[in-house]
Amino acid sequence: MIKSLLEYQKVDAELREIEVSLKQSEERKKASSAKNFLNGANESVAKLDQRAEELVGKFNASLKLLGQLEEELKEYEGIDDMNEDQLSYVKKKSQALAEEINNLTSAIDGLSKEIESVLKEFAQLKADIKKAKAQYSEYGPKYNELKASKEDEINKIQARLKKLESGIDVEVLEKYKQRRKDKIFPVLNEAQEMSKHAYCRCGTELSLTEYGNLKNGNIVECESCHRLLYLSKA
Ligand SMILES: [Zn+2]
Repeated sequence: MIKSLLEYQKVDAELREIEVSLKQSEERKKASSAKNFLNGANESVAKLDQRAEELVGKFNASLKLLGQLEEELKEYEGIDDMNEDQLSYVKKKSQALAEEINNLTSAIDGLSKEIESVLKEFAQLKADIKKAKAQYSEYGPKYNELKASKEDEINKIQARLKKLESGIDVEVLEKYKQRRKDKIFPVLNEAQEMSKHAYCRCGTELSLTEYGNLKNGNIVECESCHRLLYLSKA
């Protein structure tokens, strides 16, 4: 059984090599980085949109308030027939208004600068989206072509694997396939024996029961790294 599984794993390694080469290909990397960017871009657009709306709302409200203050100031300027008390009141009021107007004007300036920077961000984002779309439409099909070019080879290996499956215990095979999905490879490894103890290649020492199982020719799973283990002399 161990021999069959090792043989299976050897053929499986050919399949894995193709899978890894596809995954690490320039075509896939470029296609998937563009796709990831585009997936996140909608959210970025929505956030900027909201920010722009807030700023424009504040900007308009401030402009309106500025108009009101300026009107009020004009009213005070129009009064010329006053006694001293009234005159001193109006003077103070005018000064306060003028100061308020000043502050508001610089706040409006700041808002307008912020709006400008949001617009710049928008333009940049738009350009980036365009670039990512172009990259995706170039490398998406290229990656599909690359995958298609390996299809024959993959099918042949899978047929060989299918044939080898019959010599392997169903449960062990299921476990092997699961570990393979978990990106553990090689799945089946030789346990190391040292002065009457057995170890996984990750360094974990196996229990005496597990060691006994190994010596009886069984496959044992390391509870730390989940690799499957065997003893070659068993
Ligand atoms: Zn381990």
